[in-house]
Amino acid sequence: MPEGPEIRRAADSIEAAIRGKEITGVEFTRPHLKQWQHPLTVSKVISVETRGKAMLTRFSNSLNLYTHNQLYGRWYCVDAGKTPDTRRQLRVAIHTHDRSALLYSASEIAVLTESEVGIHPFLSRLGPDVLSGQTTAEILLQQLMDESFRRRQLATLLTNQAFIAGIGNYLRCEILFVCRLHPCMKPIQLAQPQLALLSESLLDVPRQSYKSGGITHHLATAKKMMQHGTTLEDARFWVFRREGKPCYQCGTRIIRTNSGGQSCYLCPQCQSEMR
Ligand SMILES: [Zn+2]
Repeated sequence: MPEGPEIRRAADSIEAAIRGKEITGVEFTRPHLKQWQHPLTVSKVISVETRGKAMLTRFSNSLNLYTHNQLYGRWYCVDAGKTPDTRRQLRVAIHTHDRSALLYSASEIAVLTESEVGIHPFLSRLGPDVLSGQTTAEILLQQLMDESFRRRQLATLLTNQAFIAGIGNYLRCEILFVCRLHPCMKPIQLAQPQLALLSESLLDVPRQSYKSGGITHHLATAKKMMQHGTTLEDARFWVFRREGKPCYQCGTRIIRTNSGGQSCYLCPQCQSEMR
């Protein structure tokens, strides 16, 4: 599933394609949404906000298109009249004179008024957003110390969208490695410097990923590897999907465990439970 940085980059592309432009047509393929085609067509997109892994496309008439891509949803931005080469099913199309934003395969789509945004069951439960400028390390330190989170294992806590919004499986594995923390550890077991490093890394790792096109590994090292022919996929991570390969820090082989129903990758030496 795309995580916060990937959703934000998709939102950037949509803004670049259609924001502020006259809309020439809006299409929904689901019958219950067709009533919104006309009201949205006579307005403009003023911004595309992201809330964790969800997207909120805001229109000038105060309506908001809520979409959550889940596993298969994907946005494409294309020249007017063109369609992308995909076998996915079209769900939403927003057309302007020169560019269109098309959403395929997403199952969670709704048109919301401003007041409905505030009480939306998914949006209203979200914790601080990793990519929001308003989210600070101090706020995340408070979250880690909160009675409802401090006794939970980091492996499941980090992907809990009520704790922090926008982190999925690759980011949790990478953040835990950067902090040298075993996935089974709990905030209550951590010393103050570990908590401080975790609070900062919860922001720094996703933000670097957003800016760099998905690299959570040490940026200069990853770039050097790519200059020498390593693919982005092979250079971008410290531990994620690197099972059996040597840790960049200590040479120990990366292992894969299962946590919260998802594969969790770690270095058993750097992320020892005994620390
Ligand atoms: Zn290691």
